[in-house]
Amino acid sequence: MFNIYNMTKNKLEDFFLKNGEKKFKATQVYEWLYKKRVNSFDEMNNISKNTINLLKENFEFEKLKLLTCLSDIDVDKYLFELFDGNKIEAVLMHHDYGYSLCISTEVGCNMGCLFCESGRLKKVRNLNVSEMVLQILMVEEIKKVRISHIVLMGVGEPFDNYDNVIDFVNVINDPKGIDIGARHITISTCGLIPKIKEFTNFDKQVNLAISLHAPNNEIRNKIMPINKAYKIEELIKTIKAYLEKTKRRVTFEYIMLDGINDSDICAIELAELLKGMNAYVNLIPYNSTSNDSLFKKSKKENILKFYDILKKNNINVTIRREFGSKVMAACGQLRANYKEEE
Ligand code: SAH
Repeated sequence: MFNIYNMTKNKLEDFFLKNGEKKFKATQVYEWLYKKRVNSFDEMNNISKNTINLLKENFEFEKLKLLTCLSDIDVDKYLFELFDGNKIEAVLMHHDYGYSLCISTEVGCNMGCLFCESGRLKKVRNLNVSEMVLQILMVEEIKKVRISHIVLMGVGEPFDNYDNVIDFVNVINDPKGIDIGARHITISTCGLIPKIKEFTNFDKQVNLAISLHAPNNEIRNKIMPINKAYKIEELIKTIKAYLEKTKRRVTFEYIMLDGINDSDICAIELAELLKGMNAYVNLIPYNSTSNDSLFKKSKKENILKFYDILKKNNINVTIRREFGSKVMAACGQLRANYKEEE
């Protein structure tokens, strides 16, 4: 059966209309689910018995199972078990502006980026909407906090699960739902061009982040297999069209990998590539993974030099604060290291 947390408000309205009920019941149900956070249909006490029975006949009301939680200063990492036994991770970060949650969008990932732990497990399946929504609800319940920002940067490629991700955004952005502002939601992609084009026409002001990680095809081909399908020039062209249409800003993520993409020449090339775009670059210190034989974190002085070159060339740039290397907060690490308790 279908979990109730899969339903956008529009879909729930259609469900009620199709079953000869009034549309406003969807709003009532939403308030019970997301404002009052009940744990069963029976608690929805302003809804008639008949309607409750209709809901029970059509929907499940199931949460995720918490397997383990690891904490470090300002970061908590959660491992959840899904209904079918698969495991997913979510990472809660405490910033000065509030709590942000990094959620997973798939079980495993097919993108195969060499520096990323997630891809060691090939994609098993998409997460459905409820499994994404419940990561938020569960963490809020466990940690007893209100999460203000959501980033889709956990395990999985959000644009490889596009329709569910869009429904998920609609659920959590709904004023009668969790009500997280669109500008507080960031979708990160390794660059699936057809979906970036589709996203250009999405009517919400959700932030877009691009995992770029290299200034040219030669380097990008070596570390991100997706670049063989979608070349960097095409990617930049698509993002320029996105910026033109949406009048928004885009973030480029750039992992600093020692001796691979962190030279002065790379910085100059990157500045040239991004010239004139309404963009900013987020330099990310590499988080250690099981592929450490191939990759090392850039030296601090190289990161700072890279940063300076971009700045001098009028590129907006920040260096990402490091969270949770002690709790294996890089995508996929917790699942990879979790051993079943006996
Ligand atoms: N598939 C999406 C979202 C998941 S990855 C994407 O590619 O954007 C989220 C971010 O974490 C990406 O920028 C990714 O490149 C980065 N990342 C992956 N492995 C990392 C590591 N070992 N250290 C630091 N950042 C990493």
